[in-house]
Amino acid sequence: MILEGKTGNWEIVCGLEIHCQIISKSKIFSSASTNFGCDANQNVSFVDVAMPGMLPTLNMECVNQAVKTGLGLRAQINKYSVFSRKNYFYADLPQGYQITQFEYPIVGEGIVSIDLEDGSTKDIRIERMHIEQDTGKSLHDMSPTKSFIDFNRAGVGLMEIVTRPDFSSSEEAGAFLKKLRSILRYLGTCDGNMDEGSMRCDASVSVRKVGETGFRPRAEIKNVNSVKFVMQAIDAEAKRQIEVYENGEEFEQETRQFDPVSGQTKFMRKKEFAHDYRYFPEPDLPPLVLSDEYIEEIKNQLPELPDAKKARFIETMGLTKYDAMVICENKETAEFFEKAANGHDGKKVANWLMGDFFAMLNRKNLTIDNSPVSAENLGKLVDLIEKNIISGKIAKDVFEIMSETGEDPEKIVEEKGLKQVTDTSAIEAIVDMVIANNLDNVTAFRNGKTNLKGWFVGQVIKESKGKANPQIVNELLDKKL
Ligand code: MN
Repeated sequence: MILEGKTGNWEIVCGLEIHCQIISKSKIFSSASTNFGCDANQNVSFVDVAMPGMLPTLNMECVNQAVKTGLGLRAQINKYSVFSRKNYFYADLPQGYQITQFEYPIVGEGIVSIDLEDGSTKDIRIERMHIEQDTGKSLHDMSPTKSFIDFNRAGVGLMEIVTRPDFSSSEEAGAFLKKLRSILRYLGTCDGNMDEGSMRCDASVSVRKVGETGFRPRAEIKNVNSVKFVMQAIDAEAKRQIEVYENGEEFEQETRQFDPVSGQTKFMRKKEFAHDYRYFPEPDLPPLVLSDEYIEEIKNQLPELPDAKKARFIETMGLTKYDAMVICENKETAEFFEKAANGHDGKKVANWLMGDFFAMLNRKNLTIDNSPVSAENLGKLVDLIEKNIISGKIAKDVFEIMSETGEDPEKIVEEKGLKQVTDTSAIEAIVDMVIANNLDNVTAFRNGKTNLKGWFVGQVIKESKGKANPQIVNELLDKKL
């Protein structure tokens, strides 16, 4: 994306770092529970608060999840990785250091394909992914004079995913976060709930003149907690930096914060460097060594991921690229669709799903998991239309009843007598009646006002309460007019 400035055209250069909480019953180096939303300091072991003499034990479930995620990111899995201490002092980090990975991360380079609004796709390069422990949570807004700390989060496993600076617009960054969240949810390795902090994004933003190679200093915007805010933060920060340069000023690499109220980023601190953290290998944990058999075994457990599912739905179920993208973003929606479309026209089922069905969920403020209309019943409804048992118009009424009662559409059609009338003699009687009652229009039609045909069709359908088969109505009118 090109941004016009007073001194010429600019472009955005952006990379993302995303911290994703690993789904596992217990923490990465202790057996305390990872349950979210408990009372403060309920899920805390001696290890989590660094009692003297306590030692970390690696939770292999977190390793399984990290390897699964690495494979889902089409990335290199490193058979040898090392835990390191990242030293810094903060009240929510009782050890005085974070156990993380530095030179030897568990996952190396990978690729995530993103879908853009113009229908194109772009490959975003993953630089690395490492695993580490989360910190506790400081609460500064509960008392005017005191701060509180909740250690429930301390020691929860995190995957830190780092991309290359491949984003040239906020749209691309937003599409990436949605895609990453979708992949993690398909894999079941992170729930991706940014509003609960289980996925947190830092964006590194710099700008440069179009045609310039190399990078200018960047600003790292910390801990943005929604896709929308990440996109706003990138746009606001790029605009700010362009203004700085165009005013003849410079700036050094720095850390900033996004303020959703003003929509602006604000200065936090000058950038810290790796040597400030005095990284060194964690002496309490051996290097992590994985075998080919182990990695192969995890590979065999991988579910079908969004890109593969999308391709299959386009190929075998007649969906357009756009339909498939919308339906596959969410695993539950994709599974619901597949169930509903089983044995029916996939495109027609997709239209119902993305039209009336999604609108109904929105209106009722429901998710697909607690939809009153089941996948089987949506499929049956499409079937009734395909077999000409009901018209598309009647189907809308049937769908309304289904969304209220959750009933089987076949039962509704039967009980309410909504079956389309295909009995020619019954329709003929109505056609005769409509003609007899509207002789003026019949004369007009015969004198050349042929567009009255549609009006006659409408009258007959109306008289039949929507149930007359339109094709038979048309044929009979052709004969009798
Ligand atoms: Mn980190």
